[in-house]
Amino acid sequence: MLFANIIGQDRVVHSLARAIEQERVAHAYIFHGPDGVGKRALALALAGALQCTEFRGGDACENCSGCNKVAKGLHPDVHVLMPTTTDADLHDVSARLQLLAEDPYQRIDFQSRPTLDGSRSSSNKQIFYSVEHINAQLRRAMSFHRAEGLYRVAVLLDVDRMRSDAANAFLKLLEEPGDRTVFILITNRIDHLLPTVISRCQQVRFDTLSNETIEKAMLARNVEPGIAAMLSRMADGSISRALELYGNQELLQTREKVLEFLRLSYQGKGDRVVAATDSMIGQGREFVKFQLQVIMGLLRDLLLIRTTGDVSLIVNIDQVDTLTSFAANLPDARLESMIEAVEETSHLVERNVNLRLALVALSRVLARAMRGEPSVKMETDLLKVEA
Ligand SMILES: [Zn+2]
Repeated sequence: MLFANIIGQDRVVHSLARAIEQERVAHAYIFHGPDGVGKRALALALAGALQCTEFRGGDACENCSGCNKVAKGLHPDVHVLMPTTTDADLHDVSARLQLLAEDPYQRIDFQSRPTLDGSRSSSNKQIFYSVEHINAQLRRAMSFHRAEGLYRVAVLLDVDRMRSDAANAFLKLLEEPGDRTVFILITNRIDHLLPTVISRCQQVRFDTLSNETIEKAMLARNVEPGIAAMLSRMADGSISRALELYGNQELLQTREKVLEFLRLSYQGKGDRVVAATDSMIGQGREFVKFQLQVIMGLLRDLLLIRTTGDVSLIVNIDQVDTLTSFAANLPDARLESMIEAVEETSHLVERNVNLRLALVALSRVLARAMRGEPSVKMETDLLKVEA
């Protein structure tokens, strides 16, 4: 990863490149800011630039042995650590770090990807750095002489996931820095770090990426233009989120599914609504919440089309035809009530209500609202379905 390949974040990239040029590299950095905006990518770019023997013109050379080894995730003086579950398998951890080296913008953490094969077994296991982890891996790695690099570099992902014994062990390491040693701490929750840790590091704040930056990055990855525009608007400034939504085709398929759910609800075909509902709940409660978010996005777009007549700001920009004809065909639809019903359903889903009952009730409430009939509270309707 070169500085030149970092998506956006120009301010931060320039200041780090200048620090290397002027030999003013800090002994510890905290990269903090929202999730998925390039903190890990820039940490790897910085590690690469620090190990590059030919560093010039503000970036690494990409050709020397230092650059090559960092790019492959194999440099003996660059250590990347991540918090894990207590039973995490070493092969799993190294597979994740390998993925990170291949594309530092993809998610590799145990929290958002409990398993690498993409299965949805959500886990409630605690994910953290243990004190053994800090002492056995980090202390050892950072106390050896440099093997061949110009610096010893440790990158700690999600560094806020340290319990106090681990954090104190880590603080000792920070307090006795070796020569040409650089720690790069990464977090989206800087307020969870010990003040004594923060005060020993140079803080580097990352901002969310603009929609234009994300769109450009998606286009550069050969995503088709309509989809790139839509993803950039859905990603909340996070390139990792945009890639995730695109990568597993989750969003596109889900949107098809929920559009069908809306159509069937309107048509009032009870048995087919139940079948659609069953397919929506097949992947579990978290996924139902995600589908409700997608419905919400579509309804907000419809509201925007209706109130402003302007399609340029809608999120589902690639579905502009479907949405405009929906708005035209259902002039009486009570969109605000529909949005409220979806919000209410999301809350019910969080409260462990029966998923099928909740979605069937939602379908009925939406059908009424689409026809412009007076709205009913979701919970009231839910009781009717139950009875
Ligand atoms: Zn190089």
